[in-house]
Amino acid sequence: MDHKKIRVRFAPSPTGPLHMGGVRTALFNYLFAKQQGGDFILRIEDTDQNRYVEGAEAYIIESLKWCGLLPDEGPGIGGAFGPYRQSERKGLYKQYAMQLVENGWAYYAFDTPEEIEKLRKEAEAIKETFSYGIATRDKLNNSLALPKEEIGKRLEAGEDFVIRFKMPEDTDVSEEDLIRGSVTFNTTKSLDDKVLFKSDGMPTYHLANVVDDHLMGITHVIRGEEWLPSMPLHVLLYKALGWEGTKPRFAHLPLILKPVGKGKLSKRDGDKLGFPVFPLEWKDPKTGETSKGYKEEGYFPEAFINLLALLGWNPGTEQEFFSLGELTKTFELNRVVKSGSRFDPEKAKWFNKHYFQQKTASELSALLKEILDEKAIPSNDKTISLVVENIKERCEFAHDLWEQGHYFFQQPSTYDEKTVKKRWKEDTPEKLTLINELFSEVEGWEAGAIKEAFSAFMDEKGWGFGAIMNPLRLSLVGGNMGPDLFLICEILGKEETIKRVQLGIEKIG
Ligand code: GLU
Repeated sequence: MDHKKIRVRFAPSPTGPLHMGGVRTALFNYLFAKQQGGDFILRIEDTDQNRYVEGAEAYIIESLKWCGLLPDEGPGIGGAFGPYRQSERKGLYKQYAMQLVENGWAYYAFDTPEEIEKLRKEAEAIKETFSYGIATRDKLNNSLALPKEEIGKRLEAGEDFVIRFKMPEDTDVSEEDLIRGSVTFNTTKSLDDKVLFKSDGMPTYHLANVVDDHLMGITHVIRGEEWLPSMPLHVLLYKALGWEGTKPRFAHLPLILKPVGKGKLSKRDGDKLGFPVFPLEWKDPKTGETSKGYKEEGYFPEAFINLLALLGWNPGTEQEFFSLGELTKTFELNRVVKSGSRFDPEKAKWFNKHYFQQKTASELSALLKEILDEKAIPSNDKTISLVVENIKERCEFAHDLWEQGHYFFQQPSTYDEKTVKKRWKEDTPEKLTLINELFSEVEGWEAGAIKEAFSAFMDEKGWGFGAIMNPLRLSLVGGNMGPDLFLICEILGKEETIKRVQLGIEKIG
């Protein structure tokens, strides 16, 4: 039995905002580690300088924080295995690439990018794909094909080179994936000689990833399905570097699929159907284009985490609501499915509604207060809590508190035309004037008392309730929405109620 401490890593490349699929990868890593008392590590894989995007790393860190997925080790956090940014580890990769060259597992390749491009084009012209590997390497400019002195000369002259992995011929590489079971790749059929070390002195993803997983004592590599084709190379690298004994276990998570149609969920789906695919709002530093974030759209992190957890994993029971703590207890990697999981934006809202309704009165009041403060609208705690209590049932998001309750804090600036047409009659102003007179006499301004006085007055006049209630509501809130009318009067206060009725009479006419 292996009693090594569980250590997993989330290893994003800072090439843009973190997609919700990336957050799910982080979540599953986090859950797997935490339930076993293990470590969750954040490693920034920034060896590809061409794809580096300003602000992406900070965005990743902020996103994890918002979700409550706090790494035990990582950039800005520290830890015994740092640094956690690959660019800061630059100096330590070359020795491993050289070790592989010396052992015959890798070789120098001097082909220029132009030469490779030419070969690619030539292959394309005859409807083939060029691949640098078993079938072609002997005819190319590398240390396997060139004479020894020639290689020495080129190296001495400081000619640019890359180091490529020498894929062994016709070998079946099999590995047990914790989600997929045994996976086998044949080297000749599906693998080329990947670049491990580049001419700019930086390792590629493959080398840096394996070296760091080894040096950081990673026990389990849990990542997206798109990395499954890299697994055989990584497995061979462990062997070639003599690290087979401590090779991590692999688990490749299923794709998150589009709400409709085929394929992987993309930002375009979100734009088309109006939902975010990123945890936080993202402003592209180059184009200035802003993409929506779950946070800014009013989702609660607990709802976001809950919905992500169920994309690809299920508890095997009917339970759908899970806090992060419950997930940590319940999650099992072997209950993660192989097949892709369809994202449903409506279900995402449904989750949010649940968490909204779970909030305490004071939490919801704080949310509404925040909105009012942002709009510089003065308010008092009593009104806020009355409003929240009476509109919360209709809300899914924090911003619904404003959409459903704005008229408690602002006089209507317009009146819903349809309602006016249907409900506002010629004698309405006259009747409302009398109602206002009645209101001014009501003692103890409270829904029950108002209703009592109102009903008595209606009986006395013999007016139909509808003929007055609808226009009254219209003048108080600007439309036909809202909770009980007398409650609205109470919350608005006597003075404001009378003022609004008067305003309605003047404005609607
Ligand atoms: N840097 C890779 C990424 O951006 C990491 C893949 C892995 O976890 O091995 O997803």
